[in-house]
Amino acid sequence: MHESLRAALAEQLADPARVITAPAVVERLSKDFYWYSPVLKRQLEGKAGDIVVQPINEQEVLAIARYARQHNVPITVRGAGTGNYGQCIPLAGGIVLDLSLMDQLEGITPGGVAICQPGLRLAPLEQEAVKQGWEMRMYPSTLAKATVGGFLGGGSGGIGSIAHGMLRDFDNVRALDVVTLEAEPRVVRHEGAAVHDVLHCWGTNGIFTRIWLALTPAVAWSQFTAAFDTFDQAFGFAQEVAAEDAWTKRLVTVFEWPIHSFFTPLKQIVADGKALVVIMIATAQLPDLRAAAERAKGQVTFTGPYQGPRTQPLLSDYTWNHTTLWAIKADPRWTYIQAGFSPSHCREQFRLLRERFGNELLWHIEFMKNGEGAVVPGSIPLVYFQSEERLNEIIAYCREIGVFIANPHVNYLEDSGRYRFDNIQLKTKQIYDPRGLLNPGKMISFARKDDES
Ligand SMILES: Cc1cc2nc3c(=O)[nH]c(=O)nc-3n(C[C@H](O)[C@H](O)[C@H](O)COP(=O)(O)OP(=O)(O)OC[C@H]3O[C@@H](n4cnc5c(N)ncnc54)[C@H](O)[C@@H]3O)c2cc1C
Repeated sequence: MHESLRAALAEQLADPARVITAPAVVERLSKDFYWYSPVLKRQLEGKAGDIVVQPINEQEVLAIARYARQHNVPITVRGAGTGNYGQCIPLAGGIVLDLSLMDQLEGITPGGVAICQPGLRLAPLEQEAVKQGWEMRMYPSTLAKATVGGFLGGGSGGIGSIAHGMLRDFDNVRALDVVTLEAEPRVVRHEGAAVHDVLHCWGTNGIFTRIWLALTPAVAWSQFTAAFDTFDQAFGFAQEVAAEDAWTKRLVTVFEWPIHSFFTPLKQIVADGKALVVIMIATAQLPDLRAAAERAKGQVTFTGPYQGPRTQPLLSDYTWNHTTLWAIKADPRWTYIQAGFSPSHCREQFRLLRERFGNELLWHIEFMKNGEGAVVPGSIPLVYFQSEERLNEIIAYCREIGVFIANPHVNYLEDSGRYRFDNIQLKTKQIYDPRGLLNPGKMISFARKDDES
């Protein structure tokens, strides 16, 4: 069966070598960072596609879509495979559509919109944008590896979200060209509000082939850390910097001890037993920030210029969901949840959670702007894994006390925090993928109609 599939798919491409059947490669390109979750690790261990196809342009994507539709072959799209929820792990075999060779930056408009193919990695986009006086509005801490298509398909925000919100906010994504799996696959352009029909859908309702992503004027940034005796002091200082518009910042993170004891390369920066604040600040404001931290009884432990993705140490490599990676390296029992605390009641929420779960939960707070422009404390708390039941108990209690949870221990869109309950993503799937061939099983509210044979 693989040989006939291989031969048929090879006919759709200019170079048949871009159809891959070597089991080890197919297996590798069927995986992502699902193992961050002990629950998903168990669930998804043996799952893989049957074959990998690496198109280099939209025509080839269309040809593969046509073939898959005619022969009922599932397609799971893949960028760099850094997603956490098993987003790009095929549940029903079929084609892994690896878009990493579609990596062209077509250009940056005079108004600061990058036009690119989906497989473009974020680091080269950021580097080229800076050369032209722009920079990314936000990027995940996986900047070095992740692709633009994967970020829009499975990510949400990151460094920069403190100023520009998440991907879904403030027209950050201007337009997307999407290949459908209709009876006759076609390319449809989604612009303005219509990007939300397909944004963050895990490749379940269309394949992005061209992306218009808004940038922002480049700033000269510096990295800054300060240690505080207590988490409360550190949080208070970070919250003030985060909320005050006069500070030009790209990242404001607070770690409670002992999280940063896991950051072995940062030994010189971390003060034992103290809470740590990490900030990316406009270089022009660095002296003022230092003075403000000292007034707040913080001890500045590091400052240095940010010179792009290759900066060493690159402090963003310890924030957002990279924190979990460092914790797992220190002890594989650590896992995580994704939480949004209340800006006004977060201290009370921290207290309630600490009372109930003790040090089974550890906080690092990444401040971000929400869609209404308010600065809110987001967090990807570390959780010391006991059992799936205990994890569900923690999630249920968070929700009970008003902490928003995007559950990273499920393998479907609906409970992972970005599902649209106006159902526009589902409606789009019903039109673009009526046979349910795109990443089957990941949008569980979708049911194929009986007459879609
Ligand atoms: C250490 C670590 C830190 C992380 N930090 C962050 C963070 O700060 N912020 C954040 O938002 N995420 C974060 N993530 C999650 C992940 O890195 C981001 O979501 C990243 O943007 C995914 O990019 P990718 O190219 O690896 O996508 P992939 O994992 O390849 O794909 C992600 C999803 O998008 C779909 N997809 C890929 N390409 C397309 C396309 N062309 N059309 C349609 N669908 C497509 C895939 O099918 C899959 O469902 C982190 C993950 C790790 C492991």
